[in-house]
Amino acid sequence: MLITNHVLVGAWLGALSPSPRAAFAAGVASHVACDLAPHWNVPCEHFLRVARIDGIAGLGMIGAALAAAPTGARSRVLAGITGACVPDLDKLGNHFLGRSPYPAWLDGVHARIQNEIPGAFGLEVGYAVASAALLGWLRAVGGRPTGRSAAQTRIGAGHGHKAAVPRRAVLLVVPRSRSFRRR
Ligand SMILES: [Zn+2]
Repeated sequence: MLITNHVLVGAWLGALSPSPRAAFAAGVASHVACDLAPHWNVPCEHFLRVARIDGIAGLGMIGAALAAAPTGARSRVLAGITGACVPDLDKLGNHFLGRSPYPAWLDGVHARIQNEIPGAFGLEVGYAVASAALLGWLRAVGGRPTGRSAAQTRIGAGHGHKAAVPRRAVLLVVPRSRSFRRR
């Protein structure tokens, strides 16, 4: 599957995960699931050109996903993206260094699980649109609610001051309620 789609899937899984560690694991699992899902078989003669465009688009998506992620979810989104992309380091290693960073048996498994369909570029576009829409929805709702910080994340989503509102609220509420009790 195109790396742009691995990035998008990793991003929304990261936003939904409870921690960066869980996001990374979910990202790696998503890479396997995406490679098992039917996807475009890039024609050999266009492989490098598509890989370059895909790489640039993927980097753009990483930037966009991190910029769009609520502040409290950013590390999880980054961990999800990292997990989703790290299995494809064999492609970068083979192209730039002449060798994969992974053992040959693992690269063999990776190659065998591909469910590639010639001419199915539309499938990749569909996955990208669905993932981007899900990511947009997660931004709208402020990412995954995680305990105490969830309210802060929701309040601060998109405004870059998630901690300021709850702290101010506490400062205003606590002294008044204490003095009320003393009377
Ligand atoms: Zn792969």
